[in-house]
Amino acid sequence: MNKGKKLYEGKAKILYEGPEKGTAIQHFKDDATAFNNLKKSTVEGKGVLNNRISEHILNNLNQIGIKTHLIKRLNMREQLIKLIEIIPLEFIVRNIATGSLTKRLGIADGTVLSKPLIEYSYKNDELGDPLIAREHIVEFNWASPAELDLINDHCLRINDFMQGMFRGVGIKLVDFKLEFGRLNIGAKKEILLADEISPDTCRLWDVVSEKKLDKDRFRKDLGNIIQAYQEVARRLGIIHEEGNISEVKFGKPRAVDLMKK
Ligand code: C5P
Repeated sequence: MNKGKKLYEGKAKILYEGPEKGTAIQHFKDDATAFNNLKKSTVEGKGVLNNRISEHILNNLNQIGIKTHLIKRLNMREQLIKLIEIIPLEFIVRNIATGSLTKRLGIADGTVLSKPLIEYSYKNDELGDPLIAREHIVEFNWASPAELDLINDHCLRINDFMQGMFRGVGIKLVDFKLEFGRLNIGAKKEILLADEISPDTCRLWDVVSEKKLDKDRFRKDLGNIIQAYQEVARRLGIIHEEGNISEVKFGKPRAVDLMKK
């Protein structure tokens, strides 16, 4: 499928114009960044795995009635998506305290929360995506109270579904980040789940060993990043063996000498 012009390049993805009005192509890169871009690297194969894992999760969410921006996966690194107006907020859902929550509040790492906790941050790299309250969101018109209620509801349904899905394959869903956007349908605006859901945007721990199967392996220099992402894809039944996720790279065609008869 022909890509149009580049619309936006983020840390892990590039967005191109799609083939039709109102569509875009989301390209998954191998770049990994952490700590607001202070740590950067390339993890070969990460984009391919995130593309597949995110497709799997968003398709499953769609089947339980959560509308998403995903139209279809196009190839190893690209998805055709609906071009929507992104709400400039990150919705963080937590089941177990870790990461920035424990640092900020001194809560013991690994504390199981009595119910899921939703936090909001304002998507702004220069400000370091600051944590904000519902009141900031409404005051600065980033989302209306009705939109926020609907999104909160979606966050909890997505959490319930994903917790079950991961539990079933021996993984604890510790926390994750969601983004949403608006699609104009005539005078009406519909809220859609956007961006991606992958080991880059979730914390996933093995149920038995508590081994980290997510981007914390990169953040904390734990090594075996791609193996952990592959493990998640394998357990979800997306890939069956390591061999079938790598891109096929063809060399330059060579002239073939035909045998003379
Ligand atoms: O760092 P923190 O503990 O706030 O992250 C909570 C969750 O949100 C983690 O799963 C992390 O991967 C995800 N996250 C993200 N993108 C961000 C910030 C957090 O995917 N910009």
